[in-house]
Amino acid sequence: MAPTPRRIVVTGGAGFLGSHLCERLLGRGDEVVVLDNLVTGDLGNIEHLFDEPGFTFVEHDVSTYIWVPGDVDAVLHFASPASPKDYLEMPIQTLKVGSLGTHNGLGLARAKSARFFLASTSEVYGDPQVHPQTEDYWGHVNPVGPRGVYDEAKRFAEAMTMAYHRHHGFDVRIVRIFNTYGPRMRPEDGRVVSNFLVQALRNDPITIYGDGSQSRSFCYVDDEVEGFLALLDADITGPCNIGNPGEFTISELADLVVEVTNSSSEIVYEALPVDDPTQRRPDNTLAERALGWKPTIELREGLEKTAEYFDGLVSRS
Ligand code: UDP
Repeated sequence: MAPTPRRIVVTGGAGFLGSHLCERLLGRGDEVVVLDNLVTGDLGNIEHLFDEPGFTFVEHDVSTYIWVPGDVDAVLHFASPASPKDYLEMPIQTLKVGSLGTHNGLGLARAKSARFFLASTSEVYGDPQVHPQTEDYWGHVNPVGPRGVYDEAKRFAEAMTMAYHRHHGFDVRIVRIFNTYGPRMRPEDGRVVSNFLVQALRNDPITIYGDGSQSRSFCYVDDEVEGFLALLDADITGPCNIGNPGEFTISELADLVVEVTNSSSEIVYEALPVDDPTQRRPDNTLAERALGWKPTIELREGLEKTAEYFDGLVSRS
C-alpha cells in the first residue's frame, strides 16, 4: 500500500477544482498549502478554509520558482486556466503554467522526496478518433491551433512528469480530467454548463455553438474529487482517466438545463469554435479496476445542485 500523504501543496488551490480538493484533503486530516496567483482562482472559493488548522495560502505564480519550507508529502499541480475562454485569452500564461509550472512543481516534489500529482486533461486526446478514449490512445491534437496552447501544455506536462519519474525515480500520478461541473464554477468562465445554467436562470437565449451534435461527458465535482483522492493514494504511475462516461450532445444538455431550471429561454446557434472536439467520453476501465472508483451523480441531479448555486449568484447580480 502506498503511504498516505500528510502535508500537501496544491497549486491552483483557489480554483474551482482545487478548492474542492483542498476541502476534502483538510477534511481527511491533511495539512494543505495552496499556491495560487488568483488569475482564474478566487479567494472567495477558499476563505472558509482560512481558519482551519493546517491550512496555508500563498499568493504566487507557480510559473516562477516555487519553494515551500518544511516537509512536503505531495505536490498536486492544479494551477492552469482550464476553460477554453480563459486559455484563449491567456495563451502564454497557459503554456507557461503547463510547462514551467509543471517543472517547478516537479522540482519541489523532488527536493522534498514528495509524490507529484499532475492535473492533466481529456484535451490531450484533442478531437479524438478513438471513442471512448482509453489512456493508451495518443490523441489527435492540432499543435498550432488556438486550443494547442492548453492541449500541448498539458501533453508537455505529462511528458515532463514521466521523464522525472523515469529519470529520477520518484512517485508520480497523472489524472486526465474530463469535463467537470459544479458549485464554484465562475458564472462567466465560458464553459458550457456555466453558460447554459446562467443563461437559463436569467431566461436569456441559450447559446449552442455549431449544430449542438458534438458530445461531452459531464462529471459532478464531488465524484471527480473522490477520484483524485483515490488516485493519489493508489499505485498507478501512468495516466488515469477520471470522468463520468454518461455522454450527451450539447443539444441534449441544453434541453436538460431548460427543464431543470424551468426556464423560458430560447435556443440560439452560434459559430463553432476552431478545433472544437466532436466527441468525448472517458473509458473508465482503469479507474474502476485499479481504484474501485465510479461516479455516482447523474447529470440531472448534478445540474440541479449546480443550478441552486448559480441561482444565488444570478439573483444577487
Ligand atoms: N459550448 C456551447 N455553448 C456555450 C459554451 C460551449 O455550445 O455557450 C460548446 C462548445 O463549443 C463545446 C462544448 O460546449 O462543444 C463544451 O465546451 P466547454 O467550453 O465547456 O469545454 P470543452 O469540452 O470544449 O473544453
